Amino acid sequence: MYDYTIIGGGIAGLGTALAVGKKYPNARLLVLEKEESLAQHQTGRNSGVIHSGIYYKPGSLKATFAKEGNRSMIRFCREYGIKHEVCGKVIVATKASELSLLEGLLQRGLDHELAVARLTPEQVQEIEPHVRCVGGIKVPTTGIVNYREVATKYVELIKSRGGVVRTGAHVDRAREVNGIQVIETSHGEFETGFIINCAGLFSDRVSRFCGLDPGMRIVPFRGEYYELIPERRHLVKNLVYPVPNPNFPFLGVHFTRMTDGSIHAGPNAVLAFKREGYRRTDINCTDLFETLTFSGFWKLARKHYRDGIMEMVRSLSKQAFVKSLQQLVPEVTEDDLVPTNSGVRAQALMPDGKLVDDFLIVKGTNSIHACNVPSPAATASIEIGRFIANHLPEVTLGRRRDSRLPVTVNPTRTGIGRELSSQAPSHLSCQSAIL
Ligand SMILES: Cc1cc2nc3c(=O)[nH]c(=O)nc-3n(C[C@H](O)[C@H](O)[C@H](O)COP(=O)(O)OP(=O)(O)OC[C@H]3O[C@@H](n4cnc5c(N)ncnc54)[C@H](O)[C@@H]3O)c2cc1C
Repeated sequence: MYDYTIIGGGIAGLGTALAVGKKYPNARLLVLEKEESLAQHQTGRNSGVIHSGIYYKPGSLKATFAKEGNRSMIRFCREYGIKHEVCGKVIVATKASELSLLEGLLQRGLDHELAVARLTPEQVQEIEPHVRCVGGIKVPTTGIVNYREVATKYVELIKSRGGVVRTGAHVDRAREVNGIQVIETSHGEFETGFIINCAGLFSDRVSRFCGLDPGMRIVPFRGEYYELIPERRHLVKNLVYPVPNPNFPFLGVHFTRMTDGSIHAGPNAVLAFKREGYRRTDINCTDLFETLTFSGFWKLARKHYRDGIMEMVRSLSKQAFVKSLQQLVPEVTEDDLVPTNSGVRAQALMPDGKLVDDFLIVKGTNSIHACNVPSPAATASIEIGRFIANHLPEVTLGRRRDSRLPVTVNPTRTGIGRELSSQAPSHLSCQSAIL
């Protein structure tokens, strides 16, 4: 019998559990994770970058949470001795036609009050001697960390404060019985007052079986990486990024130094035929059927088929992948790179074919759903957790049950001031809904 149950043991779920435990120290808290160990999916398969927030639209949750998250993540790593480095990154234009986009990005960085600086090609080479470009930007607050290590520390803290973390518990369904949420899992049933859905690649399905349809569908995009062989690691010192495509900032392969000293190149973005499909050959008929029968997918595909084809070519041909990397570092050759672990992004797509740009967190009656928390959600996990915790009602179901007192869910403590029915989900990514 729990007050709050979090579905999903990735960094968003664990960050939320930590924040809920802080806000309601006496609450009975449960985290349910389907895998035998935590952080196996997006959290354990990403670039390990502590983002600065430079890319995101001013006023968006992504911009606010990335900027604040950058600081809180670095503070957290310092406090708990987690290996990390604030090494900064360079974003470079490799053709004259990209200079105006670079200038726009510099301005956005300044608008975000980041200590960004314009760099001449020579200044870029002082930082990254093997990079060739026509101009660049230095973003000094970007860092690197291993998010699995961060997630492990979150779990330690959750448990030390009395939270329960159950692995190997696949949540199949949820139903409401007399105001109590009954969660059916592969490990039996759990009763709870409130459900927090942080199921990443399955957040849409979990929200639907909780009785809330946020309209979006998760479309999985695999990001494939190569890594530089040890003898060629000297080609890149820290992080080197191209100017992003304004329509798809997550497209465009880049170089990232990991905390273990390896240098990763990637990721690309190709449609995955399975939500947790890390290899090209991984197919799940249900997942694929859902994608292919979703009108939003075809609208997106029709509009952006050129980008999609380019990404597929880069996936199938190492030569094409390396060609993109050579635009940044011309000395890189095919022999310098070996494939390494890929990740799959949980990207929400709307029926009109628009990718959900911002974080999307939706509230139902006795549940809240992190429907779209792709990059930079690992950076922002402390802020996402705090945001969700601040929008929860105070639930005392588990504690009251134990002491045989009446069960309560107090909606006046939500921070929104009212409870919303499951038929009218409240999109908390929209500022007006919060106020
Ligand atoms: C290739 C790639 C590169 C990225 N690079 C960066 C980066 O450099 N910096 C950054 O900040 N962000 C980055 N991101 C984004 C970041 O990794 C994710 O936004 C973040 O990890 C999302 O965390 P999550 O907890 O929502 O998802 P996940 O880590 O996927 O966790 C969701 C969990 O829910 C569990 N689950 C799902 N369904 C159920 C169920 N029915 N029952 C029980 N458990 C369930 C899953 O097993 C999983 O463990 C990257 C992502 C990818 C894919």
